[in-house]
Amino acid sequence: MKLPKNVTLFLLITFAMFLSACGKQEPTPSSASSSETKPAASARAPATPASEAVTTTANSSAPKPDINGNHVMQYVKEVVAIGSRPVGSAGHAKTEHYILSKLAGVDVEQDKFTAQTPVGKFPVNNIIAKFPGRKDGIIVVAGHYDTNYPLPKAYVGANDGGSSTALLMALADQFRGKERDGYSVWLLWTDAEEAFVTWTATDSLYGAKHLAQKWQQDGTAKKIKAFILVDMIGDADLDIQKETSSTPWLSDLVYQAATNLGYQSHFYEVRASIEDDHLPFLKIGVPAVDLIDLDYGYNNVYHHTVQDTIDKLSPQSLAITGDVVLETIRLLDGR
Ligand SMILES: [Zn+2]
Repeated sequence: MKLPKNVTLFLLITFAMFLSACGKQEPTPSSASSSETKPAASARAPATPASEAVTTTANSSAPKPDINGNHVMQYVKEVVAIGSRPVGSAGHAKTEHYILSKLAGVDVEQDKFTAQTPVGKFPVNNIIAKFPGRKDGIIVVAGHYDTNYPLPKAYVGANDGGSSTALLMALADQFRGKERDGYSVWLLWTDAEEAFVTWTATDSLYGAKHLAQKWQQDGTAKKIKAFILVDMIGDADLDIQKETSSTPWLSDLVYQAATNLGYQSHFYEVRASIEDDHLPFLKIGVPAVDLIDLDYGYNNVYHHTVQDTIDKLSPQSLAITGDVVLETIRLLDGR
């Protein structure tokens, strides 16, 4: 994924915390301004007005989500142990097998096609695991599993590609063998998210573009209630940005889910427009949100470098994102 060239970042509402007599903290917007700068250089303050921070307790009897971060981290370690995973490589083929091996007994669809890239034709494979629900409609949770074609073999993409692949596996463990009262949940490991040469509108998001077109043609797109994308969500310093192309109501629902769980301080401190796998689905009218922390190391220094290694990640960050995704699904089911 990538920040557009003229990144406009807005961050900018600072909040004064007011401790009332009853001890309840009320956020109070105090000032707003705008600037053009990178996320890491922006002032640290919540970007979501207090009015959006609604807490509801719909289906409050349901157990709170409780993803085991160490369990997710183990999956990240196994993915990273494969090595680099660019499309067309042995590492990529191993990753496909690895994902499929974790989905035994699950209804799996593979969306295989040949992508025409600036450096030739490559086989691409989106992997979809389907968990049926009683409600009419589908919630998609997606994340990419490829690593960058042009980067050296030493690049393992622990956070970029590794964290999303692993979190989807942990979510599969949550849904496997259980009947869902809510919507069907489809877990989607997207492929060829990364550019083959340099990120452009055409050299990027190959798998997502292909699948969005397919789902538009076969009518699946109309059934999708929400498309939740996770990307780079393992950073120990978790700071998920408010991605400004994302569907506003779904973005707000994620913040509500985070607030319900007490994790809102990890969400939406910074607003940014980020190009990622949600865009092709937004384009065809699917409500979509990108949960991404594109502030990986100071000034995003680890992003797309061989320093994107497992020591930068924490089980807690993986668990927080996983729990917020599950809580968002619970809220969607209750709508
Ligand atoms: Zn990337």
